[in-house]
Amino acid sequence: MHPDFQRAAFLTAAASRAGTPPDTGFEVAFAGRSNAGKSSAINRLCHQRGLARTSRTPGRTQQLVFFRLDDERRLVDLPGYGFAKVSLAVKAGWQALMEDYLRRRQCLEGLVVVMDIRHPLTDIDQHMLAWGRAAALPMLLLLTKADKLKRGAQQHQAAEVRRQLAQLDMGEPGEQSAGEVSVEVFSAETGLGVERVQERLAGWLELPPRVKA
Ligand code: GDP
Repeated sequence: MHPDFQRAAFLTAAASRAGTPPDTGFEVAFAGRSNAGKSSAINRLCHQRGLARTSRTPGRTQQLVFFRLDDERRLVDLPGYGFAKVSLAVKAGWQALMEDYLRRRQCLEGLVVVMDIRHPLTDIDQHMLAWGRAAALPMLLLLTKADKLKRGAQQHQAAEVRRQLAQLDMGEPGEQSAGEVSVEVFSAETGLGVERVQERLAGWLELPPRVKA
């Protein structure tokens, strides 16, 4: 259990920049295709079942949802993408909201892009990574639902994703810097990868080090 994440609580939802909390402190945002497992990942990382709503219907998802960890630190659930059935107007609205947030949010310290380990790096995911890079954000690519694959297949998928990232010139550096992507295998079902991801987020959020019992 990570107490800093466990105390996450809903703060506010915003459909435009006007409704966002003051741009101070530290934020980490979560993006992903609808149904990739983003809500489940946020819930698992925060040790809470009902924090981010799972399986929300498209159209109701065009909001930035802010969860506070403390006065200075927030997690942000970005609207899911890739739903075939939404209108062009909804898509344009989503794009404007995301680009505005990713480009202008000063307190944004990192971007987590959640992907189903069985279907990673779709065109729209690559688009999202390109936005993250344009905004000079460090990124963490979460390959979730890993419990759906055997360990060998998990490692194979992770290696394949790293290979593709290198081709896209977004490979993993020794020490992660702006615009670069690291990869973690994850499962909201089993908790695989939770501590490693929490550690990464804690670094981005500049959470004080925990005193080990
Ligand atoms: P979101 O639309 O990206 O927020 O996705 P959700 O978190 O709502 O998850 C979509 C579906 O995938 C739900 O039925 C979840 O129960 C399931 N799911 C999410 N994460 C995992 C996981 O790690 N393992 C398994 N087996 N299923 C998952």
